[in-house]
Amino acid sequence: MRYYIGIDLGGTNIAVGITNEYGDIIEKHSKKTNPEKPFEMLVSDIAKTAKETVCKAGLSMSDISAVGLGTPSCINPQTNLLVNANNLNWQNVPLYDELKKHFNVPVFIQNDAACAALGETIKGTASEYDDVVMVTLGTGVGGGIILNKRIFNGCDSMGAEIGHTKLVHNGLPCTCGQNGCFEAYASATALINQAKKAAKSNPESLMTKLCGGDLNEMNAKIPFDAEKQGDITAISVVDQYIDYLAAGISSLIVIFRPQIILLGGGISAEGDHLIEPLRKKLSDVTFSAKQIGIPEIAVATLGNDAGIIGAAMLCRQ
Ligand SMILES: [Zn+2]
Repeated sequence: MRYYIGIDLGGTNIAVGITNEYGDIIEKHSKKTNPEKPFEMLVSDIAKTAKETVCKAGLSMSDISAVGLGTPSCINPQTNLLVNANNLNWQNVPLYDELKKHFNVPVFIQNDAACAALGETIKGTASEYDDVVMVTLGTGVGGGIILNKRIFNGCDSMGAEIGHTKLVHNGLPCTCGQNGCFEAYASATALINQAKKAAKSNPESLMTKLCGGDLNEMNAKIPFDAEKQGDITAISVVDQYIDYLAAGISSLIVIFRPQIILLGGGISAEGDHLIEPLRKKLSDVTFSAKQIGIPEIAVATLGNDAGIIGAAMLCRQ
């Protein structure tokens, strides 16, 4: 049996899993990251955590065939440098070369959202499918595109930036410096802003009460909670939010025609309550939906394990 190390490197946590060749996690371990640490020390911490996890699994490094790592950026194949991981204050760092110093096996690095989509396609909700688009609705909008069970991210791995596709010409400002991005309308941050604005104009809304009277306490669950209780303002906020979501996802369907769209991130916890109206709207606004329907829409199920499994399975790409 071959074994692999999968590492999900976030701004606050290093999550490491050891998988077998089928992508089953046999051991996992996570540790706090300190983004203030010098780059080389942080990479050394990552390697140490990975090796400790190998021991915990009852294996030795000679059992490990490859190491995969997912991080919110990508390696520019022209420079071999990690382009930009804001949450770790890393810009153009030699992550690949530095990791290679710690391991005698092949090392693979990929965008974390692409790893999560791959993990879901190998072991999660989308394991029956080959062509999958995953959209993560969190602080931003992330995502991964899997075509024929392989990650697609374009030239220099700089594509598949689902959150920064254009939804509204000259629209709201986005964190990337552009305007009108999908993320500026469909992220949890966007929903919170939409709910705050609506509750400010309609202070009698149940959303105001659920915030304890302080709109700064608004979160992405409150509009859904108030909507379920029949609050008129929340109903219109959620309806408009799902309109935006449907508009963005319909473009992805038209371009890729995946067999399934997977939703991840905090907002996907709304489950069928989100998916049912989304499906209806997609049937109305998607090209050729009347003739051929729309792909299956489902919630990703692996949570944080998706990123670990996807990273571990990068060597099979
Ligand atoms: Zn953007």
